[in-house]
Amino acid sequence: MRYTEYHAGKAVIKDRKLLPGAMEKLAAYENTGLTPGQIMELKERDTEKAPEIHKNKRSSVYTCPSCNLVLINKDENGWFCGQHYKFCPDCGQRLKWED
Ligand SMILES: [Zn+2]
Repeated sequence: MRYTEYHAGKAVIKDRKLLPGAMEKLAAYENTGLTPGQIMELKERDTEKAPEIHKNKRSSVYTCPSCNLVLINKDENGWFCGQHYKFCPDCGQRLKWED
C-alpha cells in the first residue's frame, strides 16, 4: 500500500490515520540501510533480462544484457561453451533463458 501522494509537487499523507502505518514503513526502509538509488539498482539487477544474441556465420554468441560478458557460444550442434547461468557471474544480472 502506498501512503503518500503528490500534491503541488510535494509528497503528502492526507489521511492522518495512516501516519502510524507510514512510520512503520519508513522504519522498515531505514532498517535496510540502503538509499532509494541502491534499492532501484538492486531491483533492476534482480529483474530477469534475456541475454543478447549476436549471430555470426557459424555461431551465436549470448551475452549479458547489462555488462556484455559472453555467457554462451552456440552453433548448429548446440551450445558448446558457457553455461545457462541464472545470474551473470560478473555483474549479477538475473537472466531469463528461453526454453
Ligand atoms: Zn553481466
